[in-house]
Formats: sequence, C-alpha cells, structure tokens
Amino acid sequence: MYMDYDASTPRALATEAVHAGREDLAELGLHAPPLDLSTTYPSYDTRAEAARIDEFATTGARLEGPPVYARLDNPTTARFETALARLEGTDSAVAFASGMAALTAVLLARASLGLRHVVAVRPLYGCSDHLLNAGLLGTEVTWTDPAGIAEAIRPDTGLVMVESPANPTLAEVDIRAVAHACGSVPLLVDNTFATPVLQRPAEDGARIVLHSATKYLGGHGDVMGGVVACDEEFARVLRQVRFATGGVLHPLAGYLLLRGLATLPVRVRAASATAAELVRRLATDPRIARVHYPRVGGAMVSFEVYGDPHDVIAGVRLITPAVSLGSVDTLIQHPASISHRIVAEGDRRSAGVSDRLLRMSVGLEDVEDLWRDLTQALSASPADTARAPRTADDSAAELPRAGR
Ligand SMILES: *Cc1c(COP(=O)(O)O)cnc(C)c1O
Repeated sequence: MYMDYDASTPRALATEAVHAGREDLAELGLHAPPLDLSTTYPSYDTRAEAARIDEFATTGARLEGPPVYARLDNPTTARFETALARLEGTDSAVAFASGMAALTAVLLARASLGLRHVVAVRPLYGCSDHLLNAGLLGTEVTWTDPAGIAEAIRPDTGLVMVESPANPTLAEVDIRAVAHACGSVPLLVDNTFATPVLQRPAEDGARIVLHSATKYLGGHGDVMGGVVACDEEFARVLRQVRFATGGVLHPLAGYLLLRGLATLPVRVRAASATAAELVRRLATDPRIARVHYPRVGGAMVSFEVYGDPHDVIAGVRLITPAVSLGSVDTLIQHPASISHRIVAEGDRRSAGVSDRLLRMSVGLEDVEDLWRDLTQALSASPADTARAPRTADDSAAELPRAGR
C-alpha cells in the first residue's frame, strides 16, 4: 500500500507503533495523519466508478483511489488498519464500530458459507458469550475446554473461538496447541487483554485475531472500536460483510486509534510493571483468597476477596469503579454483577467466575497511590479469614459472607 514500506527490513514493535500507517506522510508534506470525514467522494466518470464497485463487490479487495462512499472504506481508518496488521504480523486488518461489531462480522462471514457451528472455550467476555449462546445470528455453539476442541469440531464448524488471557479470570490457553487441534477450521483468538505487545496469536497459528479496540488500542477510554487482524483472503470477506451490514468505524475513531497505537508499547509495559507489583502485594495479603495473573503478564489483575466484593467497589476513591479496561487510569469492577452479568449464573460459575472475583485494569498511576487506595478499600470489607477456606476452587455459595 505505502511505497516507502520495505517489508524486507524488519522493524521492532515500538518502531512500527509510531511509524506504521504513516509512511506516506512526509511525501504529502504532513506530520500528523489527515482526518478525512467525507461520507461521499466526487467522480465525473460513472463508467470507471461502476467498474470499481463491481471489483469491490466481487473481490472485497480495497479500492484503489478514493472511496466511493464511506461505508466501503475510509483513508484515515485504513491507516489504523495498516498499522494494527503490522503490529499483529498479519496481511490485513478490518476495523469495525466496536469489538462486538467485529465479532458479528466474523460470525456472519462464516455463516455465509453455511458454517454456523462454533466451538468455544469459556470464559469469554460476557457479551461474546451471550452473542454465541443466544443464537442471535443463527450460531450454534459447543462449549468445551481446550483439550476437547478437536472432538467438538463438526463438518459445519466455521470457527473455533478462545480468549487468552480470558476476561475476567485471566485463564490462558496454549494457542499453538489449540491452533493445531483446529485443523483446517479457523481459530479466532481474542487478543484484547494481551495486545500485540505481549502476544501475537497469528505467529502461533491463529487465523483470526480480534480486538476490542475500545480497550488498550485506544487506551484513553474515549473511543469505541473493534478490529480483526487476519490474512487478506478473510479480510476481503469481512470488508464485504462490513459494506453490507454497516458496522463501520467512524473516521475520528480511526484517527484516535492510530494515535493510541503509537503509545501502546509504553503504556502496556508501564501498566504491566505496576500490575505485577500489585500482584506481589495482593498475593500475601490475608484479605485476598486468590490472585489471578497470567504468565504472559499484562495490566489486568483479578482477585477473589474473603470479604464482600461490593464493599471493595464502594470503597475505592482513586481507582474508578467502572466496567471496561485498558485506559490510562485504573478501573475495578465486579464481573458477576457487571461485565459477565448477561452470562447465566451456572455457566459463569463453571467458567471459574466466582461471585467473590474482582477484575482490575491497572493504569498509569503511581503504584504506591494505587496500593494505598486498594488496601483501604479492602479494609472496608473485613476478611473473615478464620472461617473462609483458602482453596483454588471456592464457589461463593460455599463461602460465608462477611457481616455488613
Ligand atoms: C470489551 C471486550 C469485547 C467487546 O468489545 P466492545 O468494543 O465493547 O464491543 C470483546 N472482547 C473482550 C475481551 C473485551 O474485553
């Protein structure tokens, strides 16, 4: 796409993060990327436009020259797509209005081939679980553990879906092993939590890498988006689905996401270092029953409290009690009440989402300020350590509730 990019010269991720998708700017006499808000584009040559529309409709390949209409493509969003594909190490990326719009497009792309069966591993983000389980798109799902994937695959299986680390327990799967078990069925890995800074699933055999760009890619809690990184063949189908169904990313969001990518490596590394320190402190805190933190690292921490998790949420002052994640400031939420509320209680529990679990997205504040706030919030919910069992598979039903 960009003439100056020479794929034979490999560049480090931090370099790509600030340069990918911007290679033509100097030639254009620009430093910041231009923001193109056009919904339509003039053309005096109707025959040529007809040919370009035919080309897009039959192949899904990106149009050469200006878009015809903003639902086909947008030059600002295309810069974000180019950059994200480079970071994930895929041919292409296709951006959508949200993470859920991106997952919807993937499911529709597979269903259009008659492949409506999905094999999936819990836990997934609550709404992803709901979209698969409720059958809104005619999807039929078989839930299994990673070891059961090969056996669960049927002739009409269009997709295998995993999240690693998973929302909200931070459970990980061996992506390479899972990709092998999938055979010729495409594996989708939701890489929202790890980001390409910590993990590039395509290198381990995932054909489809999904992000809620709303989280770390944007990184400032002010832009909603989704993106699928994949090979160009699948990207072409996704572009056709996006054109037909309209879940496009707004160009201003594309602009903000490209800007967010530039600082992604430093944000993720800094927040991860703070998260790792908080994990060390939580692990020895008598008020904490269990800490979840993935091998791959990252800025997400989950922990189970002996006391009442609602008291902890009500007790934070610096940390923001809110759903979502991946912003510059630290957020905490109670998955059983909020992010995974839509998943049936039994399914939630069997996926390891205890009623005592809290999920924290660590931001860029100073670690001592965060610890001071967290420890005072935990004190708002006195631990009953004498009675509470410290086992790995506590279910909330077995735990005595701390008195209020
Ligand atoms: C938030 C989230 C989604 C959904 O993304 P939206 O941008 O909110 O639509 C999907 N997967 C994971 C892991 C998430 O955290």
